[in-house]
Amino acid sequence: MICSGNFSEPYLPAFPGQEDFTGEVLHTCQYRTSDPFKDKNILVIGTKKQFTDQFIKKHLKAKQVYLSSRHGFWVYPRRAMGGWPYDVLLDNRFSMSVVPGWLIRWVYQQFLERDIDYDVIGIKPARKLFEENFAVNDSIFSQITCGKIKVRSGVKRFIRNGVEFEDGTKLEGIDVVLIGTGYIVKTPFIDDKILSDDTNTRELYKYVFPARLPHATLACIGLMGTDSGLTPIGEQQARWSLRVFKGHITLPPTQKMLDDISEKAQYLRERYGRPKDFVSQIPGVALTDELTSEMGCYPSLKKLFVTDPKLAAKVLFAPVTPFTYRLLGPHSWSGARDAVTNVWDACMTGIQGKPSVMRQTKSKSSALWIVMISLPFIIGILTFFF
Ligand SMILES: Cc1cc2nc3c(=O)[nH]c(=O)nc-3n(C[C@H](O)[C@H](O)[C@H](O)COP(=O)(O)OP(=O)(O)OC[C@H]3O[C@@H](n4cnc5c(N)ncnc54)[C@H](O)[C@@H]3O)c2cc1C
Repeated sequence: MICSGNFSEPYLPAFPGQEDFTGEVLHTCQYRTSDPFKDKNILVIGTKKQFTDQFIKKHLKAKQVYLSSRHGFWVYPRRAMGGWPYDVLLDNRFSMSVVPGWLIRWVYQQFLERDIDYDVIGIKPARKLFEENFAVNDSIFSQITCGKIKVRSGVKRFIRNGVEFEDGTKLEGIDVVLIGTGYIVKTPFIDDKILSDDTNTRELYKYVFPARLPHATLACIGLMGTDSGLTPIGEQQARWSLRVFKGHITLPPTQKMLDDISEKAQYLRERYGRPKDFVSQIPGVALTDELTSEMGCYPSLKKLFVTDPKLAAKVLFAPVTPFTYRLLGPHSWSGARDAVTNVWDACMTGIQGKPSVMRQTKSKSSALWIVMISLPFIIGILTFFF
């Protein structure tokens, strides 16, 4: 099993003139504390989630932060309506695998733009929502409004003490350039013929088994990008591949695996419309549902709605949790039903840092959002069942 992760090899673009730059250049993987940035002018190149997640919240000691963004970017807040984390509220099995993509994109867009005009803030993204990775941050808009962060265009080249941007403007007096351009997935210990280092061209059945290997003896766990959490997917990939190794599940013939791989690639190409890097948005819930169906631990929703409607509603609308796949089948867990039905309490306990009792709070705006969110869900339910 290869579980070597996606974040060991930093991607460092080479900029003309970089060798003459007198300041310091760091990749975000070298970032540990904000102390080295105290009272300095910092330029950050790259604006996606792995950078903003770590950095923005800690940069306050810097004198001035500049953000270089080539195409603008979407910002997901951590907090949604009522104080819930946005993914807890919006990412559920229903929204991620039943509601049509265009509808969910519309709902998310209303949510992200509800009190922010991206043109005013100056980060209007060139690409549509879901077509690329995004930043996750709650304070960036106020930091931009207050001038603590200044957004600039893409970097064209370095100059002695700063950079020149693609729009022709220059920025001088930069002490540190922090490169937040992500990572390259590398598996240098495996022959390229077996596992290409280009994630877009890897032929991995269910993003796990190299389809052309004569025997299922090598599994890749979590060597992919997803539109949801990677850790829960890794768990199901590991469970599934162990069942393959043990002979409980037999992989289909090579051609069938290759067909499945191209079908998934085609879907991603159509959905995201970009030739490169589309594998970073693999639909996580759909994939775990597929893997767990094969293992016999995916709870059939249609059956569940008849036998245990309360549980079925939770499975469909509550946040997707790994214990959903411990309700039945191999390695099931007797506490899974309780865990699924009490998932909102568990989330609230996480937020409050202590055991909590759910309270029903309603306001005008939350009522509006409930209506907005339920509408696609209702349409989706009708599509799903009829
Ligand atoms: C800033 C940031 C935020 C993230 N936030 C989330 C999140 O909120 N939710 C989420 O699900 N995911 C998140 N991720 C992704 C997260 O990294 C993964 O979900 C998780 O760490 C993947 O676990 P893993 O075991 O596959 O890989 P890793 O945690 O990367 O572990 C891989 C291990 O393999 C080791 N290794 C690499 N090469 C070799 C080798 N040749 N020989 C031996 N050992 C090797 C590495 O040293 C490392 O210890 C985030 C990532 C970053 C960078």
